[in-house]
Amino acid sequence: MSAQAEPVVVVGGGIAGLSAAWTLARAGRRVTVLEAAPRLGGVITSQDGDGFVMEGGADSFLTSKLEGDALCRELGLESEVVGTLPSTGAQILHRGRMEPLPAGWRMAAPTRLRPVMAKTRLLPLRAKLAIALHWHRKAEPRDDETVGAYLRRRFGETGGGAIASAIAGPLLGGVYGGDLEKLGAAQALGVGAKSAAVKPGTPLFHSLRRGMGALIEALAAGLERLQPGSVRTGCTVTAVGAEAAGFRVALAGREEIAAPAVIVATPAWRAAELLRGLDAELAAALEAIPYVSSVNINMAYRSAPAIPAGHGFLAGGGYRPLLACTFAHQKFPGRAPAGAALLRLFYSAEAAEWPDARLQQQAMADVRRALGVAQAADAVQIRRCLRALPQYGPGHGARVAALRQRLERWPGLRLAGNAYQGVGVPDCIASGRTAAADLGAPS
Ligand SMILES: Cc1cc2nc3c(=O)[nH]c(=O)nc-3n(C[C@H](O)[C@H](O)[C@H](O)COP(=O)(O)OP(=O)(O)OC[C@H]3O[C@@H](n4cnc5c(N)ncnc54)[C@H](O)[C@@H]3O)c2cc1C
Repeated sequence: MSAQAEPVVVVGGGIAGLSAAWTLARAGRRVTVLEAAPRLGGVITSQDGDGFVMEGGADSFLTSKLEGDALCRELGLESEVVGTLPSTGAQILHRGRMEPLPAGWRMAAPTRLRPVMAKTRLLPLRAKLAIALHWHRKAEPRDDETVGAYLRRRFGETGGGAIASAIAGPLLGGVYGGDLEKLGAAQALGVGAKSAAVKPGTPLFHSLRRGMGALIEALAAGLERLQPGSVRTGCTVTAVGAEAAGFRVALAGREEIAAPAVIVATPAWRAAELLRGLDAELAAALEAIPYVSSVNINMAYRSAPAIPAGHGFLAGGGYRPLLACTFAHQKFPGRAPAGAALLRLFYSAEAAEWPDARLQQQAMADVRRALGVAQAADAVQIRRCLRALPQYGPGHGARVAALRQRLERWPGLRLAGNAYQGVGVPDCIASGRTAAADLGAPS
């Protein structure tokens, strides 16, 4: 076995791991990124061909969290950043019709009663009356309850139940791919979440002209410029153990790397496997964070079928396993050639088990049912994201606090990624930067 002295080792080359490595490298710390897959980016991948930009994972990042734009600036990508095209707002496919989200809706709950009472067809009259009856009951989401339980506590069984099934379910399903009766209320509803004041007129989401994969490419190029050879792909870490001067990182193929500090930026379930020999209690806490799978299907049409205006729709409960559909060519500029269209369908975990042929059939049936599009797509790209999205269940905040406390035993060990303090791209960038800062890089 060979053991070579290395500086900070980052396990996992997704957006979190690469952000950590980039932050450390810019601060002059030597880093080695070890990525199991043959490519970097993890969940994020874009395919750019025939004028279509197909996203296999994230398609954008929130501008109200500043880390996405800040990283693009650092990487010299400002001129590549694109904002969402104008839209009429979010819509939910409900009983065969596109229904707009009532005005004043915030995350999973209404903030104004009038639009709920007067306009929306998403809720039946008895649910509206129940919501009105409970309107003045103040109740903040708690860390120890699910979103479904919170909505029923806040708006009563009838009102809260109707909000959960007709609006909150589709909205949060489109973000977390999960189930309201399992998602923790405080985390999913953003209690205590900070969002920055952005310049008036800034779109809600930004992306990159050639897709989110361009951010990964720029990070890889930036690391190669600062520290040639610091990123290794096709390099699976099998365990992280302790040794006198820090850690010993074992790789498949019997190689070992000695490192004074390690950032584990894999999904939490994988981090649990890697760290079990080092700290069984830490591993057990990591393993307790559940994940779900999902499927993305891009459908490209050289001649655009007639579809409604807007960025897409969230699917009501009756359309499962379909969760959402993005009209990519209407959401961001340059996603499809002129006159063409690109639809992206997002499916829940059960579809991840299906073979490609069944997925393709389902996608065709769904665009026909939801949009009346019978025309065959000219290209279809299917991507399964297996155990990629963590589900922040009740007690997640306390679980992460306990993890941090346990980590104090290992001053040179840090965790980064979407399992801890937010699943969005800016949250993952922030988690990588925080891990790097904890190891001495200026944040
Ligand atoms: C379908 C989908 C759509 C999304 N859309 C959006 C969106 O539009 N906007 C948004 O903000 N967020 C979105 N998200 C969330 C966001 O994209 C992810 O949370 C984020 O990209 C995860 O990054 P990560 O670095 O934490 O993890 P990952 O991307 O999972 O990276 C972890 C890396 O670790 C590697 N690894 C695992 N085990 C090992 C090992 N043993 N040795 C070495 N390497 C290992 C993996 O191969 C992987 O590359 C979406 C998520 C999904 C699944």
